[in-house]
Amino acid sequence: MPQFDYDLFVIGGGSGGVRSARLASSLGKRVAIAEEFRYGGTCVIRGCVPKKLYVYASQFHEHFEDAAGFGWHVGETRFDWRSLVEAKEKEITRLEGLYRKGLENAGVELLSTRAVLVGPNSIRLTATDKVVTAERIVIAVGGHPTPHSDLPGRDLCITSNEAFDLPELPKSILIAGGGYIAVEFANIFHGLGVETTLIYRGKEILSRFDNDLRRGLHAAMEAKGIRILCEDLMQSVKQAEDGRREVSTRSHGTILVDQVMLALGRVPNTTGLGLEAAGVAIDEKGAIIVDEYSRTNVPGIFALGDVTDRVQLTPVAIHEAMCFIETEYKGRTVSPDHDLIATAVFSQPEIGTVGMTEEAAAKRFEELEVYRAEFRPMKATLSGRAERMIMKLVVNAADRKVVGAHVLGHDAGEMAQLLGISLKAGSTKDDFDRTMAVHPTAAEELVTMYQPSYRIKNGERI
Ligand code: NDP
Repeated sequence: MPQFDYDLFVIGGGSGGVRSARLASSLGKRVAIAEEFRYGGTCVIRGCVPKKLYVYASQFHEHFEDAAGFGWHVGETRFDWRSLVEAKEKEITRLEGLYRKGLENAGVELLSTRAVLVGPNSIRLTATDKVVTAERIVIAVGGHPTPHSDLPGRDLCITSNEAFDLPELPKSILIAGGGYIAVEFANIFHGLGVETTLIYRGKEILSRFDNDLRRGLHAAMEAKGIRILCEDLMQSVKQAEDGRREVSTRSHGTILVDQVMLALGRVPNTTGLGLEAAGVAIDEKGAIIVDEYSRTNVPGIFALGDVTDRVQLTPVAIHEAMCFIETEYKGRTVSPDHDLIATAVFSQPEIGTVGMTEEAAAKRFEELEVYRAEFRPMKATLSGRAERMIMKLVVNAADRKVVGAHVLGHDAGEMAQLLGISLKAGSTKDDFDRTMAVHPTAAEELVTMYQPSYRIKNGERI
């Protein structure tokens, strides 16, 4: 008789949880997974996937405008928000079905319930109040948008959770934040015809990115008509007499809009999870503390993905899950490698980036070579669109290693994925130089910037 009901119990059916459960079960383990909402987690249900679909939707009006330069005459166009929401819903329902099927085919027991810890190896299923036991438990419950509870009128605001399913498209929106979500949604709403304002507390949007790209994107967004208010904060939100939102800001007076969206980071879903009952330690932000093998301080309990607040990205959660399986069930000790993670911001234009920003590299290395190109992409010649691309390679002069690669422009996300392989492999600038260009592409600039645009020595540009 086995000592536990399950070999593995996974709490949370998002990217990390589903991958752990499916792989463990396919290795013959007895696995159950509990999900209280919908399988697929933030990424599939109200994150990356619907976001990208909405990005596509928001790009059509520029495509229609650009068409004229190529001889196409597009008739009258009209956007219907409800049709987009319905099409999105159909697609994520399909994906959710695939997630479920993948789990079922692997032999995982799917439990539609919230699950909370009641001890180191015990979990209570709240739907039935049943307590089950497991040899190992994986907590992969993700996070949720920072509530920003101290903002007066916070209840009048939406977050990315609600933005996808608004009953109607607002005429105007104010988005608070300067990170991935704020910037991506500002471009989506603007592209769909919404009068859009972004309000951000810092000097320049996207604080963790290379300054060149931050400035370039800011200028491009403003040129499209997005209003960006930096070094400002919302002080309160009230309901105006006509039902709109009246936002009082510190430096830009009162702003009247149909919707206010908060995109101020995400916090781990650890409240009410029974972590104290099981003795699992969390940090001051509420994130579960784990070691390099995703182990919590309690033997047998693991945590991965956004709930650990290491790097809040879907592929990272999946990678952490795969390392967990290798280490715990395949006898190959592997820890997730969080270095050189390529990432994209699906703004318009897009950002694709991997490695160090110029500013970070200048602090780390004595001398840098910076290769930079700014140009008008080929499509913009006939379309007449005033659009620039920026490409930048940051190279450590001592060993010629490319330590950062940054792209602003169309398909930058696709480029970042491939640049990620080069940087991970430790490519030098000489490797880039002897790589033949693919012509005519925008990406060929990455292998044809032969002379440094400038150098940085001891933090000073020379
Ligand atoms: P980010 O961490 O990217 O940005 C949060 C923003 O909110 C920052 O601009 C931050 O300012 C600001 N902020 C935080 N607290 C306050 C406050 N109290 N008052 C005013 N401003 C504040 O978080 P997001 O919510 O945009 O996204 C969450 C995570 O989801 C991201 O970190 C990312 O990992 C992931 N994500 C990834 C995407 C992708 O890969 N394309 C897309 C969407 C999300 P400051 O910069 O000054 O700290």
